[in-house]
Amino acid sequence: MTVTRFAPSPTGYLHVGNLRTALFNFLIARKAGGQFILRLDDTDPERSKQEYVDAIMEDLEWLGLTWDRVERQSSRLERYEAAAEELRAKGRFYECFETPTELDLKRKKQLNMGRPPVYDRAALNLSEAEKDRLRAERGQGHWRFKLDQERIEWEDGILGALSIDAASVSDPVLIRADGQFLYTLASVCDDIDFGITNVVRGSDHVTNTATQIQIIEALGGTVPGFAHHSLLTGPQGEALSKRLGTLALRDLRAQGIEPLALLSLMARLGSSQPVELRSSLDEIIEGFDLSAFGAAPTKFDVNDLFPLTAHYLAQQPFEAVAEQVRALGVPDDIAEAFWTVARENITTLTDLEGWWALCRDGAEPVVADDDREMVAAAMALLPEPPYTAESWGAWTAAVKEATGRKGKGLFMPLRKALTGMDHGPDMASLMPLLQKVRR
Ligand code: GLU
Repeated sequence: MTVTRFAPSPTGYLHVGNLRTALFNFLIARKAGGQFILRLDDTDPERSKQEYVDAIMEDLEWLGLTWDRVERQSSRLERYEAAAEELRAKGRFYECFETPTELDLKRKKQLNMGRPPVYDRAALNLSEAEKDRLRAERGQGHWRFKLDQERIEWEDGILGALSIDAASVSDPVLIRADGQFLYTLASVCDDIDFGITNVVRGSDHVTNTATQIQIIEALGGTVPGFAHHSLLTGPQGEALSKRLGTLALRDLRAQGIEPLALLSLMARLGSSQPVELRSSLDEIIEGFDLSAFGAAPTKFDVNDLFPLTAHYLAQQPFEAVAEQVRALGVPDDIAEAFWTVARENITTLTDLEGWWALCRDGAEPVVADDDREMVAAAMALLPEPPYTAESWGAWTAAVKEATGRKGKGLFMPLRKALTGMDHGPDMASLMPLLQKVRR
């Protein structure tokens, strides 16, 4: 059975970059009829917050990305300790005592000599007596996994055949000096224990994958299929990392972006398949194809979400938005007609407010100098509301008769006089919704 996971650290709000990872893993599981696990990488007790756990769940629920179960790393520390013991017993784990400053110095020296800054494994040569002395002086050490210095190869679901020379990578630290298990060890244990079959994550994890493959094998686990999607950039190809804070899912929600608009874009952006609005999550699941994605950075423009949202809303039947329409105070007897007229003229649901204000209160007339006389004559011919579907036709015919105006010269000044705008819904449909006309 296909089992995937989305593994955010609850140290902040989800943004569009995280969504890409969450969505791909969700879609793979759902398309295969498998399981999708929400895993909270909360081994850092200082930075992990329940408020972010709640927010992550709220954001995923908003999008309809349902999970089959939740796992928290903070409740699995015993398992990680056991795995550490196993690695020690197998001679794949060693204690190191370098301070961050010492490590930094080593790195600088290597770089100066034109060598890659790979940890030199000095700690491997420490005798037990030396370790005791260092422990007495500096406290507990940190623990590194001893990589087998060979080529690590895998067939990446997006990047194709990949290989990394383990000798070019530092032995990863899996336990910090303060005893905190680091992500790599926890993630590997979880992937093994939960039977994860497919891992999709950002290409910033490619090197991690190489080392994780060796740790999984050292622990006797089955290596899942890995795929690394490209990172998102801004519309001009600029790094998005610093701006991701402003692209939080909750901010997009607050701006009125509709879930299906966002999902439709993210399920296709960066792939060879065209972006098009899908009418349901099922349709997105059905059409998802991981192999259509490429390695090149993916340009993301938040502005692309607005036309998709508008398109989505224009297709919605009244029932889908009845609650929001009523919440504006639109009377029941015209609520559906109001929606049918307004939905073609909004970008987000928040725009409904403006259209309803116009219907309820009328608009300040906008009249060009050349039209003053004609509009005055027209207003004299306009009865008070309520209007019907025939009112616009009857009124414009009467104004034409009285003023001799026709075509655009007739209709545009009247539209501007009634709505204060030179664009908007079909006037014959709008007029029955007008509760008031300002003269
Ligand atoms: N918590 C990790 C992250 O957000 C998970 C990475 C992974 O998928 O293994 O980067």
